Amino acid sequence: MDKLKQAIIDQGVVVSDQVLKLDALLNHQVDPQLTMEMGRQFADLFRSEHVTRVVTVESSGISIAFATAYELGVPLVFARRKKSLPAESEVLCERVPSFTKGMVTDLLISKEFLKENDRILFIDDIIANGDAARGLIRIVERSGATLIGAGIVVEKCFQPGANALRESGIRLESLAKIASLEGGKIVFAD
Ligand code: 5GP
Repeated sequence: MDKLKQAIIDQGVVVSDQVLKLDALLNHQVDPQLTMEMGRQFADLFRSEHVTRVVTVESSGISIAFATAYELGVPLVFARRKKSLPAESEVLCERVPSFTKGMVTDLLISKEFLKENDRILFIDDIIANGDAARGLIRIVERSGATLIGAGIVVEKCFQPGANALRESGIRLESLAKIASLEGGKIVFAD
């Protein structure tokens, strides 16, 4: 995705050796055209897997997951981040550390929207240590549904999340791989 890489170069802000601010294209403002293209890309990568639902975490994953779900013609379900659903027994909940907020948050999905016969594609904006992804995957496992893979817009290769998931047997595809942010410079892995 040359267009994505160019947008990251043009609009990304290196906050530290660990953190890349992508507010202008992912986390605050959304570029609809680029987002739809990314959704098409993920849909093409996973189309043969007969996905029945796309799952993400609110809020930054929603736009990309929406575009992917639209292309695949299936519903999008987003995990909420706090206890905002009434009957707890009807909700699957996992507590995960938040990379950017430095605190723990609860991810929740109503059992109504994850069924045993579902084939789930997980979509998210950025992967760092993989905690959000692991929490979401645990929720999918507990629902009895099948996780067919994960599509991530930006993989920070210098942090362990993406490769740990791959090593556990999960198919993880990312659209941009960042090898380093050292010295304020964005270096892509490919
Ligand atoms: P993880 O759970 O993999 O450690 O972190 C994933 C979540 O933290 C992502 O959904 C993303 O919102 C946020 N995050 C992690 N690293 C970065 C980063 O470098 N920049 C931004 N903007 N968000 C990040």
